[in-house]
Amino acid sequence: MIILWKIIFDGKDFQKVVTPDEPLRQGFVKIKPIFYSVCGTDKSIVSGKWFSRPIALGHEISGYVVEGSGTDMKGERLEKGDYVALYPNYYCGECIECKYGNYNACRNKRMIGVREDGGLSEYMIVEPKFLLKLPKDMREELGPLVEPTAVGVHALKKFSDPRRRLVIIGLGGTGSLAYETAHLLGFSDVTAVEKSDKKLKIARELGLKVFHSLTEAIDDEPINILDTVGDEKSVAEIESAMDRIPAGSEIVITGLGSDILKFHRDVLIRRELTVKGSIIYNPSDFIEASRLLYTHQREYLRLVTKVEDRLSNLNELKSLILDDSNIKTVIRIQ
Ligand SMILES: [Zn+2]
Ligand SMILES: [Zn+2]
Repeated sequence: MIILWKIIFDGKDFQKVVTPDEPLRQGFVKIKPIFYSVCGTDKSIVSGKWFSRPIALGHEISGYVVEGSGTDMKGERLEKGDYVALYPNYYCGECIECKYGNYNACRNKRMIGVREDGGLSEYMIVEPKFLLKLPKDMREELGPLVEPTAVGVHALKKFSDPRRRLVIIGLGGTGSLAYETAHLLGFSDVTAVEKSDKKLKIARELGLKVFHSLTEAIDDEPINILDTVGDEKSVAEIESAMDRIPAGSEIVITGLGSDILKFHRDVLIRRELTVKGSIIYNPSDFIEASRLLYTHQREYLRLVTKVEDRLSNLNELKSLILDDSNIKTVIRIQ
């Protein structure tokens, strides 16, 4: 029997464990995960906020097909040696949401790397429709960024007028990638709001236009607000600026949190504000994200801190995930 490894987070530490090799079933392909990018969700799991059970993390994953063949989500043929990005929100294709094309809201969604074993493993067995083939000349470390970039693509498409000023709350992974993506999708005036002084400094060094609070970032014209954080602080940020948000503005919230969002009814009605939720992405957003990353590799690469060979010391992995002195950390798995 062939024995493979996985890196499991048990709520406290990362442990390398061995599992028997699974035979490749008909209709699946085997991939070797190569790059993993760290996301706010991973930080929430590792810090204990969202921990549910021991799993291998890694939902922002790219790797090589090593066995099997099939058709990817775009309808392209997958063969051994192809470099792919993982679509880690497996939808059922059968429920009412999937029937209407809202795969992102699938009632039977399986969240790979968040609720089930993800990419921090020697191999993964995946249905080809949950893989997207990437161009041969795309930089390898951009592969795992297709997923978080797709979150921004989906959210940005909710705004009805990209000519309006866009204010992005939070420059974590999703927010900073959305900042780059917004320019490419035609938003001409993009500003961010970031509370962490450390991140604010890095963002300014990168040439991003960033303020400390939403109140500073808004003026008299109707605006688009994208909240990529969605925790009590970012919600409070919107609430506190609510009476100053100009009439007709649109607010899209993408970060998940268990907090209650309170708006003063009159403010919402009298100003005709629009508030929309946005959850992950659909395959079309994923395909678009990979196209944007491929055609603008240099712009996206400036947000990436690449870390080689850090999985050989698992004691460091936790602090690397929790470290917020980088905008987007991409770690080589093997
Ligand atoms: Zn993520
Ligand atoms: Zn479904």
